[in-house]
Amino acid sequence: MSSPNAESTAFRSALEVIRAVEPRVADAIGAELADQRESLKLIASENYASPATLLAMGNWFSDKYAEGTVGRRFYAGCQNVDTVEALAAEHARELFGAAHAYVQPHSGIDANLVAFWAILADRVESPALKKAQVRQVNDLTEADWFALRRELGNQRMLGMSLDAGGHLTHGFRPNISGKMFDQRSYGTDPATGLIDYDRVAEAAREFKPLILVAGYSAYPRKVNFRIMREIADSVGATFMVDMAHFAGLVAGKVFTGDFDPVPHAHIVTTTTHKSLRGPRGGMVLCQPELADQVDRGCPMVLGGPLPHVMAAKAVALAEARRPDFADYASRIVANAQALAEGLLRRGATLVTGGTDNHLAIIDVTSYGLTGRQAEQALLDSGIVTNRNSVPQDPNGAWYTSGIRIGTPALTTRGLGTAEMDQTAELIHTVLSQTTPGANADGTPSKAKYVLDPAVADKVSRQAAELLTGFPLYGSVDLT
Ligand SMILES: *Cc1c(COP(=O)(O)O)cnc(C)c1O
Repeated sequence: MSSPNAESTAFRSALEVIRAVEPRVADAIGAELADQRESLKLIASENYASPATLLAMGNWFSDKYAEGTVGRRFYAGCQNVDTVEALAAEHARELFGAAHAYVQPHSGIDANLVAFWAILADRVESPALKKAQVRQVNDLTEADWFALRRELGNQRMLGMSLDAGGHLTHGFRPNISGKMFDQRSYGTDPATGLIDYDRVAEAAREFKPLILVAGYSAYPRKVNFRIMREIADSVGATFMVDMAHFAGLVAGKVFTGDFDPVPHAHIVTTTTHKSLRGPRGGMVLCQPELADQVDRGCPMVLGGPLPHVMAAKAVALAEARRPDFADYASRIVANAQALAEGLLRRGATLVTGGTDNHLAIIDVTSYGLTGRQAEQALLDSGIVTNRNSVPQDPNGAWYTSGIRIGTPALTTRGLGTAEMDQTAELIHTVLSQTTPGANADGTPSKAKYVLDPAVADKVSRQAAELLTGFPLYGSVDLT
């Protein structure tokens, strides 16, 4: 560990240098730290990266072009980029027990695009595509191009439905994947809220997808990846897992055996900034057969790699290999369960009745609210969450009926199960004292709400008090 003094000096000096050029940027950076310190952050996809991870991003690596892969670059002078990219990939392979790691994707969406292209290129039996892949692009005739577009645009993907917790990038219309693929989705059992593997198998048999995708951003339970792989194998599909949300639980060995995606999937994608607690970015892990195609991510679908972010990935992955990260990961889940139990005890309704990962979904219709009303009322009270659909959501994807809460960030800050019970009390207080508002013409509004400002103020103060014992970036003093 570096000394706290070094961390304060580093950030203070950086701000001084920035302030000399554009003081408003330095002020905004300082204000962001202050805001983060004050907010009770329950956003399930956010975290707080270490000072070492943050500092690894602010340097001259940002000045380098490094298209290509380690040792095979299209630019000269990449030896130091090679060092950090190779290190990040090695840490990723060791941490996750993966055969191959590609650490260039700039985000989770980009990692998925790399994976989709790699699977298409590997699986689609097309003479035109084979020509394109062996770099004979100039030999492709116009007829080849037409054939290629037809074949690639007609492939099928089976993924988790959005309202059950799936992600837009798993074949839904607002994302290019929904335009590239003919998509069908599997939901959850209406009675239990859990994935019904028999139904997934049935859908796979009927639909015969090229790709079966597992992974979610709002499902509060474990997924059995061994069973999902068996389903994929039964129809000859490539099995892809997007572990963007729960990569930290895989890294920290909370999800093992059937629940560890890496030994079961052909290809695994992730972000690096959610429960994994690294820099904002993405990554692909895969079996050896897909490695060559995955490594063509840049320039196929990615712009030039971000060497400064790869340096930070190497730092964060090194941190995740230390024993204290496993302890962190198990505390994330203990905290999520304590928060869920605290809410249930006070009468809240949770999708699936609880959690066994880092997040829970409160069905706020039992408080008579929409997700939108609940999210804003909580925000007024110093509690940062986001609204989220529940399965078969009656309020649609904009207003929604759920609030998603997650514990990776507060666990990094050091809060434990006792503080989670207090957090549950604050959430319940706000939701039970908020009532739906009305539009000007008297009709019920899905957005407006009524919350006594005195309640919001009191809860804000209690939330701030809860955080005082757990300083965020306590080693960093900017004054
Ligand atoms: C967050 C998330 C992504 C997208 O990550 P970005 O870095 O925002 O592009 C992709 N898939 C899943 C399942 C996610 O939760």
